[in-house]
Amino acid sequence: MKGWIVKGWMVLISFGVPMGTYSWGFFAHRFINFHAIFLLPDGMLPFYKKHIHYLSEHAVDADKRRYILPEEAHRHYIDLDHYTEQNKIHLPKQWQDAVELFSEDTLNMHGTVPWWISIMKTKLTKAFVERNREEILKASADIGHYIGDAHVPLHASSNHNGQLTNQHGIHGFWESRLPELYAASQYDMFIDKARYLPQPLLFIWDRVYESAAAVDTVLAFEKKLSEAQEGKNIFSYEKRNGRFEKVYTASYASMYHQALEGMVERRMREATYAIASFWYTAWVDAGQPNLSLISDSK
Ligand SMILES: [Zn+2]
Repeated sequence: MKGWIVKGWMVLISFGVPMGTYSWGFFAHRFINFHAIFLLPDGMLPFYKKHIHYLSEHAVDADKRRYILPEEAHRHYIDLDHYTEQNKIHLPKQWQDAVELFSEDTLNMHGTVPWWISIMKTKLTKAFVERNREEILKASADIGHYIGDAHVPLHASSNHNGQLTNQHGIHGFWESRLPELYAASQYDMFIDKARYLPQPLLFIWDRVYESAAAVDTVLAFEKKLSEAQEGKNIFSYEKRNGRFEKVYTASYASMYHQALEGMVERRMREATYAIASFWYTAWVDAGQPNLSLISDSK
């Protein structure tokens, strides 16, 4: 199977990978949706494999929607530091409880990613119940995106692009530049099979808490490194899509990647596992419909 994955992945790389500005980067979202498919049980695997191109390509639709739908933006993050006092997060995990305490406007302003993943899970379950091929694929690709975002530390912080600590660009550095440089060649994407999640909302909250806990490391390590470099050899220009773009140098990226001690790989593995587990849970909750009977024409 490994050979098949590698070959498939080469095809995927050749699609081209524009720089993502909002989350994981387009590359990483496609990468984790792609690899999540191989963690599925036999009852799901053939169907998902058949649509691997769609599920990888459409892993980034949710980010594209941000340009046209104002209500889309807050579904991709949650500023947990806004609700944190003395290292404790004071935010109810259930939406209704949180609304009562903070109002819907406040919650929307500071991001809703865990709750939105829960809504997407319901949507996916419904699509399975209705045997609606198109909706299954759409919801699967989308939930993969939001779950991916929930695993990115800076998606759990209001300092999302280092703008409060003079580290502008760190968002894309961590989630786009590093995966683009290292994921395909170095990351071990052989992961446990998907498991059933009895409480999907609480499961994703745990992942979001982990993201929030990693924020300090993400920022502090880069700060330390840039100070040690005295601002030298941090940025260079690379030609992308016909124009030159400012990027972190490969040598600086390598130092940062090493300092993080596998953090990006761990988060990508966890995101991949979570995506497959959400897909699987929705399918089980829908009564495990026979996916081979879902026609191509619907
Ligand atoms: Zn996103």
